[in-house]
Amino acid sequence: MASASGKPGHDCPRCPRLVAFRTAWRNAEPNWFNAPVPSFGPTDARLLIIGLAPGLRGANRTGRPFTGDYAGDLLYATLKEFGFAQGDYEARPDDGLTLIDCRITNAVRCVPPENKPTPAEITTCRDFLTATIKEMTKLRAIVTLGRIAHETFISTQRAKRRDYPFTHGGTHQMGEITLFDSYHCSRYNTSTRVLTPKMFSDVFARVRMHLDTD
Ligand code: URA
Repeated sequence: MASASGKPGHDCPRCPRLVAFRTAWRNAEPNWFNAPVPSFGPTDARLLIIGLAPGLRGANRTGRPFTGDYAGDLLYATLKEFGFAQGDYEARPDDGLTLIDCRITNAVRCVPPENKPTPAEITTCRDFLTATIKEMTKLRAIVTLGRIAHETFISTQRAKRRDYPFTHGGTHQMGEITLFDSYHCSRYNTSTRVLTPKMFSDVFARVRMHLDTD
């Protein structure tokens, strides 16, 4: 695989199944974004949050990570609580919300059918994540949302997964970067109480403390 910049093109051809899905949604909903969703937030941030992939009616529709679906309601409220976002989150990319010392990206940039990227798609998209991490020269902390984001990040570091197991609330030191793991803030995880707002806040409280004492 050729090396990549942190930004796949609007018509990235790498994953045939995702291209077909995108094409179908471009036809069905021509006013939606329907393209690889770019990272959101400043490149010189110290914190990077890695999600799974755009939601069909969320980021794939609006063009901004976690914008327009339930997962975003909890994520952006939590970021505001800990000073990583300012302004009002109104589930629109032009709502004026800005991120402070924080950036959000996804392990897979295109929306996958049923929210499930295949292992091959995750691997194919990974060098965009590698490039995104490399361009963040002040990076000190990463929050991975869910096991796939965690394992994809571990692979970008050329580390072995068995040396860095995923657990909610777990942390790992990887060179200058501290990795904080969380269950994904999806509607499914929160409605089943696998992840409560308090569990999610606790992760970001530790990130805040870490960066404030760095
Ligand atoms: N929206 C995103 O951008 N990423 C996710 O992982 C979920 C929703």
